[in-house]
Amino acid sequence: MEKAKLKLPEFYLKNKRVLASYRLLNCFIVAISFLSCLFCLFSYSYPPSKIKSLAITTSSSLDCQSNLPNDDNLKIGSAPSSFQLVASQEKKKERYLIRVRGKRENLQTLTSRPLDFATSAFKDHLDIIVTEDELTELLASGFQITIIQRETEAAAQGFDPLYHTYEETIACLNQAEITYPHLAKLFVIGQSTRFGFPIYALKISDNVGQEEDEPTILIDGLHHAREPLGNEICLAFIEYLLNNYGRSPRVINWVDDYEIWVIPILNPEGYKYIVDNNLSSPWWRKNLRDNNHNGRIDPDYDGVDLNRNYDYNWIYGGSTNPADWTYRGPSAFSEKETQAKRDLALRQKFVVSVTYHSYGEEVMYCWSWPNSGARAPDHDLIYEIASEMAKRIKNEAGTGTYSLARLSGANQSPIWMYGALGTLEFLIETGTSFIPPGYKIKPIIEANLEGLFYLLDRLKESGIRGKILDLITRQPLEAEISVLEIDNFQYIQPRTNDPLTGSFIRLLRPGKYTLLVGAANYLPKFISLTIGQEMTNQEILLRPESYNLKKTERLRKNSNLP
Ligand SMILES: [Zn+2]
Repeated sequence: MEKAKLKLPEFYLKNKRVLASYRLLNCFIVAISFLSCLFCLFSYSYPPSKIKSLAITTSSSLDCQSNLPNDDNLKIGSAPSSFQLVASQEKKKERYLIRVRGKRENLQTLTSRPLDFATSAFKDHLDIIVTEDELTELLASGFQITIIQRETEAAAQGFDPLYHTYEETIACLNQAEITYPHLAKLFVIGQSTRFGFPIYALKISDNVGQEEDEPTILIDGLHHAREPLGNEICLAFIEYLLNNYGRSPRVINWVDDYEIWVIPILNPEGYKYIVDNNLSSPWWRKNLRDNNHNGRIDPDYDGVDLNRNYDYNWIYGGSTNPADWTYRGPSAFSEKETQAKRDLALRQKFVVSVTYHSYGEEVMYCWSWPNSGARAPDHDLIYEIASEMAKRIKNEAGTGTYSLARLSGANQSPIWMYGALGTLEFLIETGTSFIPPGYKIKPIIEANLEGLFYLLDRLKESGIRGKILDLITRQPLEAEISVLEIDNFQYIQPRTNDPLTGSFIRLLRPGKYTLLVGAANYLPKFISLTIGQEMTNQEILLRPESYNLKKTERLRKNSNLP
């Protein structure tokens, strides 16, 4: 297969002047809207402020920076995208980014605590965001600690305009749909919990308006507000696919044969809180759920850590204290953001997915089961794919590639995606800081796309796909497909097919396997398989329980058929 040359569109550098003047205008409009919205701030109702769309250049290829936000682009949601989230005037606690050094086993004792880890990717240290109280406590317990930065110092750096704001991201997604209507379709899959900002997903495929019987893939970014590299990777990936369709055989293969879904910003209100305040709270992580119901945004009390809100071992991860930055929420899937991803995933049954975070230059995979540390039933396959991705993603220093780690098997997105649905989801910690300076964005994107491209190619390699049909009528069946050598239902939910088409796909390593296929009111079927390097296609026919074999045999004999 020809390898497409990785050449990112120059949209990060182009039109900077247009962007700068737009930002000035935006600031002015925002100041006016802010005054007029002060009343609304306390009533949760935000009338849309009108931002005029400046000259939209029509071009044959997607160029995100040349198009500007337009309120009309919002398809649902009461809160206009251009509404500014203004930080509470109240003094908030100072936070510190600290590096804790020590022996691995001592550090391990810390990782079980609901602390806000910036990264745990390194063998000899952990980076943690702590409050003054937590810092005092850690110092007293004898850890060797260096303070890397205070949040107020990070705030002074401001927000590099090379990053796409929420509004610019929406403009880019709309432009994708307008420029490539046959390939890209934009959906609103939900709204943010507190302010109702729409959560967008872009679907890319040939015949994009139809639900085709094709393997589905998801990538997403910005579960955590302070990690915008995920959004940048999502947007660059969208541009890469759309601009290279028709030019690169590899891209044509992916777009024609798969349905690719991208959610660039899962946590719009958390991200807007960081961006709209020009990074005055650069380490904000959660959404903005009003935990104390006082109508204000309280950074020391509000918000839910979206990546601790998924319903798989929910009680084993994150914090029960709303003030903590890893607060897992009042209940599993309590947040509209995680519900949005869940509902899309339930409909689309993604085969693989990547959820982008920062930082640590690490590919994290499922899982280390709570307490026991047990591996995922599909560990060997998952580890192999994670390794292949990691070794394609060059690190920032140029000294090597991303490392690998097993993810704690509780309440994070990949754990639910794999445990409940069988989706092989990888969590990639990109970069070496939350919001790196603008000049680092492009190399980080380029490095990460190589890992993603491997994952897309992998869907055509070893595994099994096909349809499960009624033996007599050839109608699709809703069925469960187990691989007896792998599946352990102590840990995972039964794997199912698409009931509408009967289709299923399962990645496997080459080898011999036994499938057990079952459906309600049908006789179960065992199938012995040898999986090679390529994807195996197989139609599986199930016999209805009511089918009376003896009677049929008699009829056959009486009619003298062979
Ligand atoms: Zn994160």
